[in-house]
Amino acid sequence: MNRKIEIIHGDITKIPVDIIVNAANSSLLGGSGVDGAIHRMGGKEILNACQKIRAKQGGCKVGEAVITTAGNLPAKYVIHTVGPRWNGGNNHETDNLKNCYLNSFIVANNNGATSISFPNISTGIYNFPKNQAASIALETITDSLYLYHNIQKVNIVCFEIENYLIYKELIESL
Ligand code: ADP
Repeated sequence: MNRKIEIIHGDITKIPVDIIVNAANSSLLGGSGVDGAIHRMGGKEILNACQKIRAKQGGCKVGEAVITTAGNLPAKYVIHTVGPRWNGGNNHETDNLKNCYLNSFIVANNNGATSISFPNISTGIYNFPKNQAASIALETITDSLYLYHNIQKVNIVCFEIENYLIYKELIESL
């Protein structure tokens, strides 16, 4: 078991950390679920920063990641990554989900972060099967920890007990 990874059952907006990862959508203008909670708790500064990114590069593509201020959240930055919508499984969903974790790690590492919290990207309204999403997330996070040495601590924050139990079982089997 990798001791740098902690599985937490809770609300990602309440946990102090360097980077909070948001499961955003391509528009970067906020949405429901964790995206809504991050914008609500973080305040207008986050939306303003997202609008600047939109003006510059027209949003964020699936699998990519951009960084903004964390506003009022207990973090230095928010990284917004866009998870894939589940569409049967043969539409690059796995690679796109991997890229969300990997690109978030790269951006976090490049910005001097030592700790990062991830939500369970794509497992809400984007409907990615939860077991599969958890395996992909854990594998990509474990690989990234070997590659990007600035990051000392990764929180996987599960809002739903179902996801928490899936991750607990998976991590104990590693
Ligand atoms: P997606 O569109 O990527 O599926 P959602 O926000 O709908 O994004 O769901 C992603 C995950 O975030 C889901 O597992 C959902 O339960 C979880 N979630 C919702 N609110 C929060 C929160 N405040 N903290 C952490 N996770 C959250």
